[in-house]
Amino acid sequence: MARLPGVGEKTAQRYVLWLLTADESYARALGEALSALRDQLGPCARCGNIAEICDGSALCSICLDTKRDGKTLCVVARVHDLMAIERAGSMRGRYFVLGKLLSPLEGIGPEDLPIERLLDRIRRDGVTEVIVATPPSVDGEATALLLKREVTPLDVTLTRIASGVPHGGDLEFADPITMGRALAGRRAL
Ligand SMILES: [Zn+2]
Repeated sequence: MARLPGVGEKTAQRYVLWLLTADESYARALGEALSALRDQLGPCARCGNIAEICDGSALCSICLDTKRDGKTLCVVARVHDLMAIERAGSMRGRYFVLGKLLSPLEGIGPEDLPIERLLDRIRRDGVTEVIVATPPSVDGEATALLLKREVTPLDVTLTRIASGVPHGGDLEFADPITMGRALAGRRAL
């Protein structure tokens, strides 16, 4: 349990002791829910969001929503960021989750990012605007520049969310109003 994000050794120990002394049915139900988690949920085959697995394949509720504007594609680093933008409520397009950011320090290069899948998606869906919503950090900016280089030849409008999201900050912690403003104030990249 100490491997869970935000959980250290002491917290893990507290959880284990509590699970051993609390109502047994709770611990058993939690165990079953955890083992079902990976069978029932997985990454959306189209965008990388969390999706329910159905007959071995998964499409998320956003990709299945026919009212979404498929011509606007918002590129994010992680599912947390997608959820933060969804909470703001002003994004009517669809998403593409990169899964990671370009990070020379951590040895993550352009070849480690799903650029070809992104370009395929843009072509196949006839996307007209790509909104780059990577975080305003060094790695986020480097990734935005890489996307600019790769996407520019495709003749789509390329925009970057405005700041207002603090530099070095995580989109996940931006409040919905700030996130909404950052999205509304996006600029050409
Ligand atoms: Zn999806």
